Amino acid sequence: MKNKIMVISLVLAMTVSVISLSGCVEDDESELIDVLVTIVPQKEMVEAIGGPFVSVTVMVPPGQSPHSYEPTPDQMIKVARASAYFKVGSGVEFEVVHMDTILEQNSDLQVFDCSEDISVISFDEHYGKEDHREEEGEHDHEEVDEHDHGGTDPHIWTSPMNFKKMAEVVYNGLVEIDPTYQQEYYDNYQSYISLLDALHYNISELLEPFEGSSFMVYHPAWGYFADTYRLKQIAIEDEGKEPGPAGIAALIQQAKALNISVIFVSSQFDTSNAQTIADEIDGKVIPVNPLMSDYWETLMQLAKDMVLGFGS
Ligand SMILES: [Zn+2]
Repeated sequence: MKNKIMVISLVLAMTVSVISLSGCVEDDESELIDVLVTIVPQKEMVEAIGGPFVSVTVMVPPGQSPHSYEPTPDQMIKVARASAYFKVGSGVEFEVVHMDTILEQNSDLQVFDCSEDISVISFDEHYGKEDHREEEGEHDHEEVDEHDHGGTDPHIWTSPMNFKKMAEVVYNGLVEIDPTYQQEYYDNYQSYISLLDALHYNISELLEPFEGSSFMVYHPAWGYFADTYRLKQIAIEDEGKEPGPAGIAALIQQAKALNISVIFVSSQFDTSNAQTIADEIDGKVIPVNPLMSDYWETLMQLAKDMVLGFGS
């Protein structure tokens, strides 16, 4: 409880300082650093650290999928004006396909790689999947083309521990672009990672009793989250493809055997298969958005929903 109060007051303090600072620079928008990010969760992060000194554009807008989205002409105009791009860096299709075009549009753009201190692994290397990897000989695939990422899981941001490392790249990047407000960036960065530490602590407390348990999702966005809390992710979708009737039957068997009663889905995908499986196991479909605008709330809710699923 004490921890929670501390966190809430921290959030309030951050909000108040952002509001009061933005009052000072409002009349001079040209002073703002124009920053590009790929996905919505990065916007919250860059704004938390950059405060009133940054203007953030998300290249894959809310409701769109970073696996397939194409930038618009309006966005390319923003690209031309931007100083920096904080890319996720983990092989997100949008970045793999469009980064060259973006750099052609703005050759002065400073690109920072938020995955630089994170080990990006394949879907089959996640917790509880070691045996599977051996069978498939994953390490034979050296060459990777633009449309096949060799099974690499780009969703690094779903673990709060990875999100912390991404925040450090943002902090260092902002200081490099404009050291004028280094102290402010530093203070904001420290507050932000304290929040992430508290989030990690709270989720660990909730999920620790269920270590080794399995959960089912439609789109496999939660592998890094699962690794952090020693859980196993079972995905309905297989490398971007919907399962056929035999695949669905196998998933139903697996869900029954593992006592799974909750299936997580995100709104970017057609999830009728998830509902079919949920009906068969007498379970529930619960929405969770891996492209969340409220990182803390989304992960806390996910952890609570997982506890409900594991407990029943
Ligand atoms: Zn995804």
